[in-house]
Formats: sequence, structure tokens, C-alpha cells
Amino acid sequence: MRLIFEKGAFGRRGFKIPKKDVPIDAKFPQKYKRVKEPDLPQVSELDVVRHYTNLSRMNFSVDTNFYPLGSCTMKYNPKFTEKIAALPGFTDVHPLLPQLGGGGILTQGSLEVIYKTEEFLSEITGMSGFTMQPLAGAHGELTGAMIIASFHKFNGNRRKYIIVPDSSHGTNPASAAIAGYEVIVIPTDENGCMDIDKFKEKLTQDVAGVMLTCPNTLGLFNSSIKEIADLAHSVGALMYYDGANLNAIIGKSRPGDIGFDIVHLNLHKTFSTPHGGGGPGSGPVGVNEELLKFLPIPRIAKRVDGTFALDYSYKDSIGYIAPFYGNFSVILKAYAYMVYLGKSGLIDVAEKAVLNANYCRVLLKKYFEVPYGRICMHEFVLSASKQKENGVSALDIAKYLIDNGVHPPTIYFPLSVVEAMMIEPTETESKKTLDNFVELMIEAAKLAQDSPSTLHDAPKNMPVGRLDETKAARDLNLRWHSKKE
Ligand SMILES: *Cc1c(COP(=O)(O)O)cnc(C)c1O
Repeated sequence: MRLIFEKGAFGRRGFKIPKKDVPIDAKFPQKYKRVKEPDLPQVSELDVVRHYTNLSRMNFSVDTNFYPLGSCTMKYNPKFTEKIAALPGFTDVHPLLPQLGGGGILTQGSLEVIYKTEEFLSEITGMSGFTMQPLAGAHGELTGAMIIASFHKFNGNRRKYIIVPDSSHGTNPASAAIAGYEVIVIPTDENGCMDIDKFKEKLTQDVAGVMLTCPNTLGLFNSSIKEIADLAHSVGALMYYDGANLNAIIGKSRPGDIGFDIVHLNLHKTFSTPHGGGGPGSGPVGVNEELLKFLPIPRIAKRVDGTFALDYSYKDSIGYIAPFYGNFSVILKAYAYMVYLGKSGLIDVAEKAVLNANYCRVLLKKYFEVPYGRICMHEFVLSASKQKENGVSALDIAKYLIDNGVHPPTIYFPLSVVEAMMIEPTETESKKTLDNFVELMIEAAKLAQDSPSTLHDAPKNMPVGRLDETKAARDLNLRWHSKKE
């Protein structure tokens, strides 16, 4: 095959672009060539199927069990998006194929998918443009924090601080710190929101940005959000929206309309692409008009003739944040999901996610402490503080749920709630599943009263029983499986 590349196709930092074809034989010295067939192990198809099926059965997954893991939006990932992502027209393209000309016919469709996904996300969030490059939410945060830094540098005033509330996801302060900022943490007030008086005290001309999740990790919408944004803007700081909880407000409220300048989304949460086990994810970042020029390159541009191109001509761009154009198959699945659901379907997502969370919250509030009792959004936080008086912790309850076929909620987060259990049912669960979960939780609360030791011994149905968490952390052994064999 002869490779022809357009000028500038790979950007400033560039890959080495072959001028003309080099015969493969000429490249490899004879001494490195294989003289006999490799001795590859042979296994039958059945052995392979059993191996992978059994591996998959060692895990909880959304496809097998209810998975109310707060803050993670473990909703069902519809299978049709997998089929679309497996279409050869998408899987057979290489990121180094030309955008136009002879091979361009192969990549125009992929570029169009990225372009249209950016358009959809801009409309959903009220932003002016998106980059699809970041590979996870945390990666999007870092991108956002770098854009904040570029913005202030561009305006000639380097600033020192980024403000986050104490209920923020740990990645927020971490991303701000990696981008070079010192982090100011604001405590939560009695309504479960960032304490606005403490916020005002810390808000100076030295603050570069404010990172907020709304609804926050307690599942609560902050009704002072507009006031916070106005205050931040009055000192020249930018508002960063951690969009991990977009599922609660999608189609209902737009971060851009309530004063946010930068947004990251987690396609693997809100837009129903599989996640867990470390990826692949996608954390696109959207910005307002003024910040467009700082987005990573390349941007996808639509030419006047309707074709799509990679555009590297942004001199103020923060550069590449990932190789090529992001996790393309994840972007494609999210695109298919949005096209399939349409506007009314996406609004339905938010409404059912919020309804399901409130349904469970109301049924459970008699049995568990609810630190912030008002109507919640897509998730809510319970505390096992009452159970703790009897020696039963959130961890014990989590283990009990495992025994009964339910993935535990997120526990001990947010840090501001003692014995926290953060529950996010998502919109894809049936009333029957929710009722079964509520029943199990009530059973756990009763056992905590009548027979605490039953809960200390959970899980009983796992081959190794209760793991020694301390030993697992101190003496990490990743080879358990192969040793056993
Ligand atoms: C999940 C999450 C993140 C981080 O996203 P990743 O995709 O896991 O990197 C950030 N903030 C909040 C609130 C989250 O729930």
C-alpha cells in the first residue's frame, strides 16, 4: 500500500510522515527475521470460551446484577450501540488514514461522527464547542484546568488557587494540583451545599477557577449556583462544571445557562457506554465562546462543501491531551445512544433517574439516617450511623448486599458523611428491582438490630469469605489466579 498524507495532517508535534513507500523487506535486517514458525500454545475454541465465560462470572456487572454504585451511573448499556461500534466501516479505519483524497472516503464518516457528537453535547450543555480527546472524566478535568491556566496566562495574570467544595470527587483537587494550582477546600453547609459565606471569604483575585459538581455528590442540586457563578465571575475566576452527574439534569437544565464556562462529561456514565475495570472511557470537554481557542488540537472542522477536516490552526491551543481524537468507539456508542433516544428520550432519562432515586430514598428513610433529607436528584446518601451504634458499619451492609446478588452502593464517600452509603439506582431499573433492593436494605437494618454478627460474617456465599482488607492493601498479590492454577 502506498501511503499518501495531506500536508499538516498530523499537526505540529507531528508523527514522522513517510515520503514514499518503503518495501517492508528493506527495513528488517536478515538476522532479525524468523526462521521457523513461532511455537504458539494451542487451545480449543471450547477452552477459550470457558476461560473467558468463567472469568466474566467472577465479577459483578450491570448485565448480571443491580449496581447502585453512587456517582458512577452504572446504567444498562444497550447492546445495539455495540453493533454500531462493530461496523467494519468504523473498525477498519486507522487514525493515520488521510482525511480527504483517495483514502478520505474511509475517514469522512468517522470525522462526521465526532463532529456531530460535539454538536449534540454543545446543545445539551449550552457550550460553544467541545473536544472529544480526553479519555476519562479525570482527564477532562485536567484538560479543563489546563484551559483555565491558559486563559489566565493569555490575559497576563497567573492566578494561584482553585476552589472546590469538600464534597467534591477526589479527582477535582487532584486535577487542579496537577495543572499547577493550590487547592482551597470549602466545607458543606447544613443544606448539603458549599457554604457560601466561607466561599466568599476565600474568593479573591488570586482564584483562577471554581470546580463544582451540580447536582453534587450528595445528590443535591445547589439552588445558589447562579449566585456562586456571578460571584466567581466578578473576580475574574472561571466556573468549571464536573459533569459526572449530568444524568440528573440532562435535557432539563444546561450548565452553560447557569453560569459555567467549562464542562466535562463522562460518556461512560451519562451516555451509557460500558465502564468499570479501568476503561476505556471518554471525558469530552466543552467551553464557552471565549475559551474555544484554547481547546486541544486537532479540532474537527466542517468545510463549506460539507466535508470534514482536522484543523490544527489554533495557535493558543493547549496542544494534544491524548493521541489522535479520543476513544473513538466510546464516542461512537454515545452518539448512537443520543440519536436513538432523541431529545424526549434523554429528558426521560433524567426524569426516571431522579424518580427512582427518590422512590428508594423515601422507602428507606425510616430505617437509616438520611443526613440531608430534602428531595434528591439522581442519587442520595444514607448514613449507617444508627447501625454503627450496634457495631454494624456501612462495610458490613455492603458485604451483606453482595451475598444477596446486589452490588454495594459507594461507601465512605462523600467523606463529609459518616458511614456513608451513596445510592444511585439509575433510570434503567424496574420497580421490581428497586423493591427487591429496598427490601434487602430493610432486612440489613433489622439484622443490625437483632443479629449484628450475621452482618460481620458476610459475605458467606463468596469462595473466600470476608477479605482481609488491610492485608489486601499492604500485601497486594495480583497473581492469585495463576498461583491457584
Ligand atoms: C466519576 C467521577 C469523576 C471522574 O471520572 P472518571 O471518568 O472516573 O475519571 C469525577 N467527578 C465525579 C463527581 C465523578 O462521579
